[in-house]
Amino acid sequence: MKRRIVIVGGVAAGASAATRARRLNAEAEIVIFERSGFVSFANCGLPYYVGDIIKERHALLLQTPEGLKRRFDVDVRVRHEVTAIDREEKRVRVKNLDTGKETWEPYDRLILAPGASAIVPPFAGVRSPNVFTLRSMEDTDAFRNFVDHHEVKRAAIVGAGFIGLEAAEALAHRGVAVDVIEMAPQVLPPLDEDMASMVAVHLREKHVALHLGSPVRDLRVTGERVTGVVLADGQIVDADLVLLAIGVRPNVGLAKATGLEIGPNGGIRVNERMETSDPSILAAGDAVEVDHTVTGESALIPLAGPANKHGRLAGEIAATDDGPPAPSVAGTAIVKVFDQTVAVTGLSRRAADRAGIDAAHVVIRRGHHVGYYPGAEAMTFKLVYEPGSRRVLGAQIVGGAGVDRRIDIVATAIHFRGTVDDLAALDLAYAPQYGAAKDPIHIAAFTAGNQDRGLVRHIDPASVPAIAAAGYQIVDVRTPQEFDRGAICGAVNIGVDELRHRAGELAVDRPIAVYCQVGQRSYLASRILSGLGREDVVSVAGGYTAYNLYLRAAQPSGLRSGSTTAVACGA
Ligand code: FAD
Repeated sequence: MKRRIVIVGGVAAGASAATRARRLNAEAEIVIFERSGFVSFANCGLPYYVGDIIKERHALLLQTPEGLKRRFDVDVRVRHEVTAIDREEKRVRVKNLDTGKETWEPYDRLILAPGASAIVPPFAGVRSPNVFTLRSMEDTDAFRNFVDHHEVKRAAIVGAGFIGLEAAEALAHRGVAVDVIEMAPQVLPPLDEDMASMVAVHLREKHVALHLGSPVRDLRVTGERVTGVVLADGQIVDADLVLLAIGVRPNVGLAKATGLEIGPNGGIRVNERMETSDPSILAAGDAVEVDHTVTGESALIPLAGPANKHGRLAGEIAATDDGPPAPSVAGTAIVKVFDQTVAVTGLSRRAADRAGIDAAHVVIRRGHHVGYYPGAEAMTFKLVYEPGSRRVLGAQIVGGAGVDRRIDIVATAIHFRGTVDDLAALDLAYAPQYGAAKDPIHIAAFTAGNQDRGLVRHIDPASVPAIAAAGYQIVDVRTPQEFDRGAICGAVNIGVDELRHRAGELAVDRPIAVYCQVGQRSYLASRILSGLGREDVVSVAGGYTAYNLYLRAAQPSGLRSGSTTAVACGA
């Protein structure tokens, strides 16, 4: 099938579109216009090159124009910017950024894959030579060169999202003292606050100074350089360089100017064939709105997976007029933050509440494999589900090894509209080095199923002070040794193995809150008490570990100290 396919943007979505189109259509003429000097580079690796973890710059360049020509017969023109679309004549205006020359290029199918741009607020000095964004190879070269050739002792990163935290680790790896400034009251806004607070504690242990709930008012400019970040409360964070990592905005200028439909979130609207409101023009990647797998609503989810898959599909449809429907997107993402791995899929509890979806959650803490085999790493796993139907809505996991595998299992369940019962039923691989016969996935699902059937009532650690004030008896069901190492103020210690015989010591006219170390023994304790006729029992989700973390997160000075020891009763 002879046709001319023109693609705007040659990175994740654009390069995937071009190569898929070629594999399916040997006769098409395929042209990519890319305004930067690079195609198909590894955006996701950029922070690690700055941090000198990836040492070779060429490792980031997955393809070159010459390589794409040789292998795929794709005509790639870098430093060529598409400046207008003429839909009547089916042509685009292209500017050669080296010569300034402009030409019109015809198309039969046009694929828009222009991505998104880093948001740069109108602060003083944002164009200074020591203020950076991290999106393109050019940004990265400038950033790395600056770190390589200047004495950078302190860096301020504005934005505690995925890229901001990756950059924080990268700069810390280069020996730079890092301040991270975030307008929201937590790091990693896609996470719920309780899960994000674990990441904040870890960052502070790694000596990253966090300024949360701190909008930036401006940058402080001294001569030609920025020397600090001015926060809304007037505090100034000194900095030898500033990275702006406050999010991205879809590049929709071309689409808007030619009258293509824009979605409710400001991205290009496409149908399930990746077609815009003009069927000759397809679009994919960070510039488009996608269907969210859980809410079914239109959403902006700027991630590499959807960009690659949707780009590939746009290439297939542009080349053959045929193809499967575009997959929805659950927003599955993972990030390494120093020694932690943090992953999300689907909806957080907060996002579900905001979307008006009836939701409940459980939090469990488990090793990534059985405890008796050396090297188990703890993970905290929050599973969000719809009560009644028990449909899985989302998960967040903070831990070390094995987080990646568990989040992908939940993502798979969400894709197939699975329930908590489906997760509980999964037949997963097990040997002591890799998991447990009752895997963390199963434990989270069992816990959610128990909660949904009314077998246990959980409360969040943050509710402990309120229930204590409301007259609950707080019962620590761990061993005396564990109790002595630190306990919730006012708790009495009755170990779970003694509870059947000592339950009579508990007042009959006051409700009971039980807790243990991570929530496992307190579940059993609440079943024992229920079996003895007590219907007024709640269990503290995540146990003393989660409660202690809640206390530390609530006490900024405690977090800043980098202490990993328990907060003492009454502290
Ligand atoms: P892009 O990759 O941005 O490519 C768009 C290209 O279009 C750009 O090169 C641009 O120059 C070009 N262009 C724009 N307008 C024009 C025009 N008018 N004419 C010609 N060319 C034009 N995602 C993950 O899932 N996991 C990660 O770990 C991850 N890490 C990331 C780390 C960093 C530092 C960054 C910046 C992103 C990361 N992402 C990650 C996000 C991921 O890289 C993007 O979702 C993905 O690259 C989007 O692909 P895209 O093709 O839509 O856009």
